Amino acid sequence: MSPTDATGAFRLFRADLHIHTVLSPCGELEMGAPDIVARALEERLDIIAVTDHNAADNCPAVIGAAKGTPLVVLPGMEVQTAEDIHVVCLFGTCEDAFAMQRQLWLRMPPVKNRSDVFGEQIVVDERNNIVREEEILLVQGVGYSVDEVVEMAHERGGIAFLAHIDRHSFAYPEVLGPIPDDFPADALEFSRRLTADEAARLKEEYAHRTILRSSDAHRLEDMGYSFASTYRMEAPTFQELRLAISGEGGRGVLWPFGEAE
Ligand SMILES: [Zn+2]
Ligand SMILES: [Zn+2]
Repeated sequence: MSPTDATGAFRLFRADLHIHTVLSPCGELEMGAPDIVARALEERLDIIAVTDHNAADNCPAVIGAAKGTPLVVLPGMEVQTAEDIHVVCLFGTCEDAFAMQRQLWLRMPPVKNRSDVFGEQIVVDERNNIVREEEILLVQGVGYSVDEVVEMAHERGGIAFLAHIDRHSFAYPEVLGPIPDDFPADALEFSRRLTADEAARLKEEYAHRTILRSSDAHRLEDMGYSFASTYRMEAPTFQELRLAISGEGGRGVLWPFGEAE
């Protein structure tokens, strides 16, 4: 058997790679660390990623809350680029995620959050104790282009995918038009609300792209097995996920619409 023929080594893992916490101003206060973990386990997810707007501060809390459970939590963030395009960036370690955040924040406008308008931005620990409130408004474009953000994530060994490309706000096609074939994002994300018909049409348009679906949950009830994607890979790790997204050695992402649930 050749190394690429080792299908017996693969298993299917269900992953939701785009979840917000109480740190995102638009995230509900119920999106605390233990609550997200409990909901993910209830929904039979194997892997989730924590992806707040322009910040990774709550990644350690959710990772900590999942300790001792079978759930794997990956650190990341949803970057809002200078063009107001959302890019989800995932990393192998919290250190890599924080390094990315530090670079992004070199060009973060010093606009303060108004919690009465935008909502609260709370950093918690793994038991949901409040550590601090983030003062800078997280939902604003950082001063890096979408090309630069993808490159910055890749420089840190990260995965970068274009978020909710079917939506009409903060989505690449809406801002810049069709995604060029050679644009170096690792995958395109379809949103929770997309219908199977719309998904099939978009799939034709982006035939040779890796497509994944995630919940972009801002409330616990937004999280769910049916809004995630199935990844064929050897183990529930960041490195395997990267290989699955790039379709290496027989790994891959299953088409997220029309599967038996
Ligand atoms: Zn978004
Ligand atoms: Zn989001």
